[in-house]
Amino acid sequence: MNIHEYQGKNILRQYGVNVPNGHVAYSIDEAVEYAKRIGSEVTVVKAQIHAGGRGKAGGVKVAHNLDEVRAYAKEILGKVLVTPQTGPEGKEVKRLLIEEGCNIDKEYYLGLVLDRNLSKIVLMGSEEGGMEIEEVAAETPEKIFKEVIDPAIGLTGFQARRLAFNLNFPNKVINKVANLMLNLYQAFIDKDCMVAEINPLVTTKEGNVLALDAKMNFDGNALYRQKDVLELRDLDEEDRNEIEASKYDLSYIQLDGDIGCMVNGAGLAMATMDIIKYEGGNPANFLDVGGDATPEKVAEAFKIILSDPKVKGILVNVFGGIMKCDYIAQGIIAATKQFDLKIPLVVRLEGTNVDIGKKLLNESGLNITAADSMGDGAKKIVNMVKETVKQK
Ligand code: GDP
Ligand code: MN
Repeated sequence: MNIHEYQGKNILRQYGVNVPNGHVAYSIDEAVEYAKRIGSEVTVVKAQIHAGGRGKAGGVKVAHNLDEVRAYAKEILGKVLVTPQTGPEGKEVKRLLIEEGCNIDKEYYLGLVLDRNLSKIVLMGSEEGGMEIEEVAAETPEKIFKEVIDPAIGLTGFQARRLAFNLNFPNKVINKVANLMLNLYQAFIDKDCMVAEINPLVTTKEGNVLALDAKMNFDGNALYRQKDVLELRDLDEEDRNEIEASKYDLSYIQLDGDIGCMVNGAGLAMATMDIIKYEGGNPANFLDVGGDATPEKVAEAFKIILSDPKVKGILVNVFGGIMKCDYIAQGIIAATKQFDLKIPLVVRLEGTNVDIGKKLLNESGLNITAADSMGDGAKKIVNMVKETVKQK
């Protein structure tokens, strides 16, 4: 789960990480009011969306008086920001962060991530701050330094100082930077983060060290014990279908192909997507209906798949283990009728009571194509979708 920059900064502040004075604003008047209260010479007006790259897209503006704050707030609020991370449709700005400006001396990158290969948390830094870290990794990988953290010991002061030295921080701020790293690590652990990224971390002309940006992402599986983090969730920023799906305990991820997939089990769902690709098609989504694919869940899954206008055909690939195939077939038939399905539907069932299930599908009188295997199912749906696209 992602949160906004201002929320991330509030958490960091609680952990003693130095962040600028600032406040979230939902309207132009509020923005001006908070700028007045902060009372700094320079105020930064920042779009709050769950995506980076705002600076280059015009979502971060530096104002020198309250009139400018008003003008920038007016310009950014309600604007659809398109950044490399939002996708081409962009994201509408509904909140602003009004923040005290600072005298940047130099920008750095600092991030804590979970390295799945090492099964450890890694602290990464670079003196190429402000730039996307992926870009730095591609162009000047020698400028990225890492400290692998032993989970039993945690980040040590030695490691933090070594990284600070490697990033060429001026000597007089090394201890400040090392402390900031230790505080960031504590926040990461306490809050069950997956990512905590500060880009840029800056040194100021006055000799301070400040987190000017904060990107935090939390482990969804730990949210049950992170009630205060869960409260920061902004559903406006999440995919509507993915929210609907989570209500029914379905794992759904929207993709950009045209073949809707309904599968039970994450592994089978991945394999199904692979085999669709192998046959030359493109999956429109990842959808795992789980082990208990009840007719209600199947109906909900169809509804979600069909709400995507790109979908030109559906492949159902279900292994009836806990749930029997005839029961699943009933769910599919009910959903097909309920939604008056007009696009091709290929169903591959395997497992307990598979014969009864297939018989039900064949005798339903509905336009459902049964498949004998996964490969057969993928081939059939890819061909049928190609045909419908050709006809248009
Ligand atoms: P992002 O583009 O979405 O990652 O947004 P950031 O919060 O990182 O802001 C982008 C850039 O705006 C930063 O790299 C800074 O150069 C600049 N910026 C952000 N906050 C301030 C500030 O308080 N003062 C000044 N002068 N520049 C800022
Ligand atoms: Mn940034």
